[in-house]
This record gives sequence, C-alpha cells and structure tokens, in this order.
Amino acid sequence: MSEGNNIRNLGSDLEFENRIRPQELGSFNGQEKTVDNLRVFISAALMRGESLDHVLLHGPPGLGKTTLANIISNEMGTALKVSSGPVLDKPGDLAGLLTNLDPGDVLFIDEIHRLSPIVEEYLYSAMEDYKIDIVLDKGPSARSIQLELNPFTLIGATTRSGLLTSPLRARFGITCHLEYYDSPVLAGIVRRSAGILGIGIDEDATLEIAMRSRGTPRIANALLRRVRDFAMVKGEGHIDLKITRVALTALNIDARGLDQMDNRILTTIIQKFSGGPVGLNTVATAVGEDSGTIEEVYEPFLIKEGFLKRTPRGREVTELAYRHLGFTPPARESVLFD
Ligand code: ADP
Repeated sequence: MSEGNNIRNLGSDLEFENRIRPQELGSFNGQEKTVDNLRVFISAALMRGESLDHVLLHGPPGLGKTTLANIISNEMGTALKVSSGPVLDKPGDLAGLLTNLDPGDVLFIDEIHRLSPIVEEYLYSAMEDYKIDIVLDKGPSARSIQLELNPFTLIGATTRSGLLTSPLRARFGITCHLEYYDSPVLAGIVRRSAGILGIGIDEDATLEIAMRSRGTPRIANALLRRVRDFAMVKGEGHIDLKITRVALTALNIDARGLDQMDNRILTTIIQKFSGGPVGLNTVATAVGEDSGTIEEVYEPFLIKEGFLKRTPRGREVTELAYRHLGFTPPARESVLFD
C-alpha cells in the first residue's frame, strides 16, 4: 500500500487530534447549512430545557461527524458517551450504556449502520419512549422488565446511509448530510490547525495542502503534519510552497488530491471498459472493493470534481479523468456512436 493511500486513514496521533478538534460550533469551519440548523435546534432545546432530538450525521469519512457530536454535547452542556455499531453487539452492552446516561447526555454511535438487528430493535423503544425492555433469566423462567431511561440524545454517524433500515432512520428527528469541503474552507482549517500547533506556513503552501486534501479536513490535517516533518528535516521548519510540493510528491499525493483507490477506479474504467458506461458492480469487482463503499465513499468526490458521471447506463469517466491520468480522451464521434 502506498503512503498516498495511508494518508486517508491517518489520525492516530491522539494528542494532535485533541488539540485541533473544534470544540464549539463557532470554530467548526464550513457546512454552513448544517451548522446554522444545529445552532437553532440546540438553542431551542436549551430554551425548552429539553434534551436535543436524536441526530443522524451521514457523509464520507473524515468530514467532521465525530467532531460535531463532541460540539453538540459541549453546546448542550452535557456529557458525551461514545460507542460504535460493531462494538455494541449484545443488547446487554447497549442497556448498560443507556442506563448510565444522565438526563440530557449525548450517546454517540459511530458506524450505526453496522448495529446488529437485535441491538437495533432495542434502540427503537429507547429512542422513542426512553424505555428499554430487559430479559432476565433464560428458558421457561425468562421474564422481561422495563427500565425507564433518562431523556438522552442519540447521535448516529454513518458513511453508508443506504444501509440504514427505515425504522431506524425514521426515529431521528434531525438528519444532517455532510458535504466535501471547498479548498478555501479547507485552507481555513489548515491555517487554524497550523496556528494552534505553532507551525509557520506560507499562504500559498496552505492553499496547496487544501487543494490536495480530497475535500476532507482529516486529510488536510494529516498532510499538514507530514509536510511539517519534511520542513523540519529538509528545511528550517517553516513550511513554504517548495517544501510542500516536495513532501506531497514524496507522499504520492496526486495533484488533485486523488488517492490510490480513486485513481484505480478511474484507470480501470478507462482501460478495461473503454471509459464506460459500466455498471457499479462490475467496477467494484474489477477494483476489488465493495460496491456500496465505492458508491458512498469514493464516487461522490470523483463526481463532485468532475472525473466521473453517473448515467442511466452506468458509470462513465469524463475527459478530465482521461487527461488527469495521462490518457488521450476518445474522439467525440466515437463516444456518440458507442
Ligand atoms: P468523521 O467522524 O466524519 O470521520 P472527524 O470528526 O473525526 O470525522 O474529523 C476528522 C478530523 O478533521 C478531526 O481531527 C477534526 O479536527 C477535523 N475536522 C473535521 N471537520 C472540521 C471542521 N469543519 N473544521 C475544522 N476541523 C475539522
């Protein structure tokens, strides 16, 4: 696996994470509509002295779902408990978490689409009536008791909203879709992180990192960290455009910020399927990735940047993709008669 692909999954430096993660809505850059709406819902809940309605956050990885969950609990002045779909595999685990919530607390469940159906069912009554049924004993002596829960806010995060069942989806009063960030907003995030960490960086270098971050704050912050390493070892510690370009080239970050899988998807469609149209499942098999992940994690960015189109007959790469990857786009006529 190349470094370029690894950068996408960076974020393990906890101390770094904690220092730069925005703590209140005011320092959360971008996603204006979502932020404005949340500000209204939070203020209204505080005015009524109630817990905030359950919130579903969906969008590709690294766009700020966990950050927003933190911010919501901060703004509500309540505690945040964190878990995730794959970890909560027994109803007892969920019951333990729920019964320990104080009034108004926020329970964040990441990857909520991966909850097992049985745990999910328990969640329904907890979300709706703040009640949970627990089965005691087994076999003929089994009996169920109902526990009252404190009012709480469930924040569910998912990269794969298509996999959410409709009963679960229907129980969220607030749904927010997070979008990829534009370069100027990402530049603001890089500037802010550099400021907090005391890193000197030129404006053109900030923009370069922003442009190559695949619209994703997590990648922007990870690149900043890596470029800082290069600036310290190969330069004098200050980040300028030259050292940024050297670092990004060494990290295999493509000029448009596409990673290895993005490029593999586009190259495969060009080389194996004459540029498309080709069905999603065929592409998925050819690149060895799950079709749902391609659809919800990779494709949205490729479409937003104009590299890929969804057509009724399947996926088709654009002229921009051919040129970006160093291929000659087919003549227009041949595309028309395809
Ligand atoms: P997700 O949960 O969607 O995968 P995170 O909330 O963990 O993403 O965000 C990844 C990183 O990006 C965090 O370190 C956070 O500091 C940063 N980040 C995300 N969104 C923003 C934002 N809007 N403004 C500033 N930093 C952000």
